[in-house]
Amino acid sequence: EDARARYRARNPASERQLAGAAAHLPGGNTRSVLFFPPFPLTMVRGEGCRLWDADGHGYIDALGEFTAGLYGHSNPVIRQAITGALADGLTLSSHTRREADLAAEIHRRFPSMALMRFTNSGTEASMLAIALAQVHTGRRKVLVFDGAYHGGVLSFGGGGSPINLPHPYVVAPYNDLPAVAALVEAHGPELAAIVVEPVLGAGGCIPGDPDFLHGLRALAARCGAVFILDEIQTSRLSPGGLQAVLGLTPDLTLLGKYFGGGLSFGAFGGRAELMARFDPRQPGALGHAGTFNNNVLSMAAGLAGLEQVLTPQALNDLNQRGDRLRERLNAVLATADVPAHFAGVGSVMNLHGLPGPVRRPADLAGANHALRELLFFDLLERGVYLAFRGFIALSLPFDDAACDTLVGALDDAVHARGA
Ligand code: PLP
Repeated sequence: EDARARYRARNPASERQLAGAAAHLPGGNTRSVLFFPPFPLTMVRGEGCRLWDADGHGYIDALGEFTAGLYGHSNPVIRQAITGALADGLTLSSHTRREADLAAEIHRRFPSMALMRFTNSGTEASMLAIALAQVHTGRRKVLVFDGAYHGGVLSFGGGGSPINLPHPYVVAPYNDLPAVAALVEAHGPELAAIVVEPVLGAGGCIPGDPDFLHGLRALAARCGAVFILDEIQTSRLSPGGLQAVLGLTPDLTLLGKYFGGGLSFGAFGGRAELMARFDPRQPGALGHAGTFNNNVLSMAAGLAGLEQVLTPQALNDLNQRGDRLRERLNAVLATADVPAHFAGVGSVMNLHGLPGPVRRPADLAGANHALRELLFFDLLERGVYLAFRGFIALSLPFDDAACDTLVGALDDAVHARGA
């Protein structure tokens, strides 16, 4: 209560802003994930890995737009790409060269995506991949995982009441291959798809075991279901995503987030015979229009980012920085005997109110959410912006100095609480 009272007192402009926004947006909100009580911050400016709020407080941005902000807030290459594209007109009502170039660049990194299609969001990519699997197999059921998130209408745990698409879902426990095998045994002939995140992102940054993920691949092949790997978050964990690290070949891959250079984007793609069903030169081709599928700004920003900024070296360095950061943060918590830890992989992590480790969302049942919330407000007060649920995604400008600031803020917070 103390922490919330101090928060309220420190942020009158954000409070006023949200109250005004609530006149026309439910609760002043149009992205559920950004809300936290008593009211979320309103940011007014960003630069590199820094943010400033409506009350003039500065922060280091550890949230990184839930992984989409990989390039930071003002990367000159991305800005140049956007302004350059703008100079040629906005929507050109036609095929454009950049969409072909972006697809080629993505294919270089994700060779399993022989053919792909672009969308405006990861949610749309998930919806279309599942629909494609259903059409292709002539089956309806979709095997998903407890705690998984593939978009606002494909959400199987976490915040809010789901308003999911009305598919017949088979919901399986994560990292439990025998349980999935039993479900596939029961539902196999009716399964259109198995959809999985190789790390549960919104579910708490819980890594999938390599054996589990390879086992799913094999089960899908055996029962004739399409194996859909949601790399919308994990695509940043290596130049070829986690599928490259694991040597895993999905039938379809979902991408989104940073591939649009920080602008709206989604993609789904994979095996040629599946994706060729969208080829409009074929009789009976599936329709997938979408006014902004190839929007010029996302194509230009995404392409420039991949070609000029996101070298394999840059990405590997970022993920190593994330691994080191997580070790240091966990050392701070362990040394101060705080029953909390950061789970995650590379540049993404999530604070949980229990000592860990966490293997599946059910393990979080006993987590101390009040403790996590206290640490969240403590970090905000010390100039670190992260997600209310404790999520952190580093951006390229989040350098060693920013890591030191974050570790120092946590250290200060746990000692102030202990004192
Ligand atoms: N899948 C995963 C793993 C995600 O993390 C997200 C977004 O958080 C989505 C799908 C949905 O993407 P979008 O928010 O672009 O619709």
